[in-house]
Amino acid sequence: MNPNEAPICQSCSMPMTDASKFGTEKDDSPSKDYCVHCYKKGAFTRPNTTIEEMIELYAPRWGQWTGRPDLSIEQAKVEIFEKLSPLKRWKKKSGGCCCCKH
Ligand SMILES: [Zn+2]
Repeated sequence: MNPNEAPICQSCSMPMTDASKFGTEKDDSPSKDYCVHCYKKGAFTRPNTTIEEMIELYAPRWGQWTGRPDLSIEQAKVEIFEKLSPLKRWKKKSGGCCCCKH
């Protein structure tokens, strides 16, 4: 599968490039939306995580993951927020319309 065409996890934005990367539903069928790190057996592995916690978790590693080891934590946090906030798991919590914030 072309990594650029792989679906991304709607929780952490990881590209799901092969079957082993997909989370699982209750009946062990693959989840269409979430990766194996976020979603197992029909439930989130960290159900109470907030987007703020995700950002804190990823910020120190973000530069490395995206090939920019010198990236500052502050810049990483901005980028992670922009990347995660439109994803299915997070967007409905912001209240109002998900696409225009009305
Ligand atoms: Zn994920």
